Amino acid sequence: MSRIAFIGLGHMGGPMALNLCRAGHDLVVFDLVPAAIKTLTDAGARAASTAQDAVKSAEVVISMLPASQHVEGLYMGETDLLSHIGSSSLVLECSTISPESARKVAQAAQARGIRMIDAPVSGGTGGAVAGTLTFIVGGDAEALAAAMPILEKMGKNIFHAGAAGAGQVAKICNNMLLGILMAGTSEALALGVANGLDPKVLSDIIAKSSGRNWATELYNPWPGVMENAPASKDYAGGFGVDLMLKDLGLAAESALHARATIPLGELARNLYSLHSAQGNGRLDFSSILNLFKK
Ligand code: NAD
Repeated sequence: MSRIAFIGLGHMGGPMALNLCRAGHDLVVFDLVPAAIKTLTDAGARAASTAQDAVKSAEVVISMLPASQHVEGLYMGETDLLSHIGSSSLVLECSTISPESARKVAQAAQARGIRMIDAPVSGGTGGAVAGTLTFIVGGDAEALAAAMPILEKMGKNIFHAGAAGAGQVAKICNNMLLGILMAGTSEALALGVANGLDPKVLSDIIAKSSGRNWATELYNPWPGVMENAPASKDYAGGFGVDLMLKDLGLAAESALHARATIPLGELARNLYSLHSAQGNGRLDFSSILNLFKK
């Protein structure tokens, strides 16, 4: 079993760390919020008082932080964690950040002989709790092979997208498509209901027709259509509007960087931005339906 330092114990990192703890790994954890640490220490993990303390003699370092600035700040900025991590260690950076940030940190790690992969996840908080996340990895095949036994304790599907940063590119493409599909599904359902259809009947029809997609099959945005979807729980839990907005912003940055054209992604970004500005940033992203509902 590996000695693992886990940094960032929020909605995703908390349950991911818990799964590693339950699998018998020797876990040292750190978060800026003390309450986030308690669940892990109750499960047998040890608490570190700083991130630098957490990585002392760790064989593997895992981070799950909100955004690029937090990751750069942790590894290369004020916390300067790279100078505290042993040169034979393996770093799994699981946050969703810009591919440029992921490459920058991976290059700085490599310059110190530290192996690092970007391993953003898909599958939400439910997948984090159940240990069924999808990991989308960028980096060396050899580093991924070394990470595999640990990733398998937190996820079910593990993909190698390419070199450093490629995991983030693939994750951003997936989430841009998800944002577009959720807005499109909401628009179609609102059109049907405005013309007298029952949203459940229309959803059943779409789910077995050519417009079918993940939202109509598993995450319907109309309240009451799917008992367990966030829409039926006042859009609480799930994947927040502001997190979707962050990912659509990363898609826009990546498009600018590569001179790619993403008109639908940009339109979706504007819709979620408007929705967030109306005070809905913390609701689940399927609440975008309310922009279309009469
Ligand atoms: P979160 O805000 O719940 O958790 C982030 C945690 O990081 C917090 O507990 C915070 O205190 C901690 N933190 C921030 N800076 C720190 C630092 N310097 N040192 C130690 N701890 C620090 O966020 P989340 O929902 O867990 O998401 C984490 C990442 O996963 C994000 O990049 C997000 O885009 C991605 N993601 C989230 C979901 C989801 O459904 N929530 C799904 C897929 C991917």
